[in-house]
Amino acid sequence: MVAQPVSFSIAGRTPIGAGHPILVQTMCNTSTDDIEGSLAQCRAMAAAGADLIRLTTQGLKQVESLRQIKERLRAEGIQTPLVADIHFLADAALAAASVADKVRINPGNFAKEHEVACAKFRELIGLCRQHGTAIRIGLNHGSLGERITQRYGATPLAMKEAVMEWLRMCVEEHFFQVVVSLKASNTLVMVEAYRLLVAAMRDELGYLFPLHLGVTEAGNGDEGRIKSAVGIGTLLGEGIGDTIRVSLTEDPVHEIPAGRQIVSAVTAGYSPCGGRSCVEASDWNDFIIKGACLWGPSLLDKKIDDFSLEGSSIDGAPVSAADGERFRDMLFQACRRRFTRPEYIACPGCGRTLYDLESTFNEVKRRTAHLAGVKIAVMGCVVNGPGEMADADYGYVGEGRGHVTLYRGKTPVLRYIPQEEAIDKLLELIEGDRK
Ligand code: SF4
Repeated sequence: MVAQPVSFSIAGRTPIGAGHPILVQTMCNTSTDDIEGSLAQCRAMAAAGADLIRLTTQGLKQVESLRQIKERLRAEGIQTPLVADIHFLADAALAAASVADKVRINPGNFAKEHEVACAKFRELIGLCRQHGTAIRIGLNHGSLGERITQRYGATPLAMKEAVMEWLRMCVEEHFFQVVVSLKASNTLVMVEAYRLLVAAMRDELGYLFPLHLGVTEAGNGDEGRIKSAVGIGTLLGEGIGDTIRVSLTEDPVHEIPAGRQIVSAVTAGYSPCGGRSCVEASDWNDFIIKGACLWGPSLLDKKIDDFSLEGSSIDGAPVSAADGERFRDMLFQACRRRFTRPEYIACPGCGRTLYDLESTFNEVKRRTAHLAGVKIAVMGCVVNGPGEMADADYGYVGEGRGHVTLYRGKTPVLRYIPQEEAIDKLLELIEGDRK
């Protein structure tokens, strides 16, 4: 079967798919009901070059807020397409179809009953067709529905199967304004899921829908950038992917330059260093992203067991031994090859976050830096956090304003404790288990 590449224009102005330039997107971490705060963030994102901006849309109230934000941005001449991010409330997706330029739904939590989910999805397709709105089927490894995990486990195969079910509905309905994502915080799972999906779209579906790539809950700083560059860079290097988001637990504006650096690292190629490749970088961020895109794919696929930094440079100077070692440790861990530090899983935060996620995450990192090999999740909300924190050993999950619930694995063990005590209690929990 010769599969047909699908391409279309989001909001009639931003082409995606079938060889169009890779779009770099981000998401507001403001409350969508905070119109002025969201507008300020959208302006900064647009100025940084965001191709698409997503906003949390929990319910009908946020659909109305989104409408106001969009009208104000358009009046200011900012045309960046806006995406409504929906979880749990199918009716919010239906309402957003006439407001947003793209509606993101998560098949794992679109509606409780599968039959209801399918009926609502077909209804959504009808409304999106009517309003020229695109849909993202945005599946996450952490929120696969029970119906799928009972048959396939929480595997890349399960992710592929779950999405194919929804894509078949799109093909049946002759609706092709669709983008797909299959994100995971584990780079191996993420890469495998997308590869399986591309093969299935090509061999079973006959249509190659555009793909949105991302590593979820990648964390922040160097680790977040390296993990994202490994997952996204590996796939882009294989010609897979049409739009990307680097999810960072930082100011979301930072996601745009990180995304652009990954795209250019993959497309620009590398300097030859006597029979090998090396990285010539302008600064540290440029170095870690280029390095992760160069050596990450082969480490991830176990085609190599090691690599040399000889010949690589930052701003014309050789990479110092200490920096080189730090980078190597982080890259080996991002590729799931060697665990020498704690593994952090942290969501980027969004309109559902009710505490200062970035500073809390940095404090958790500082206090737990000695716990090599322990997987610690820091999540913004209790709605999605517990499901999305994947295979974390421990979880710090925001629960309402000023309160936190601590998890051991998937089990809540200390519920609704004051935020001021939560990091101490987390440490006590982990240290107690290690005795
Ligand atoms: S887990 Fe984080 S990013 Fe996901 S919905 Fe909750 S606050 Fe938002």
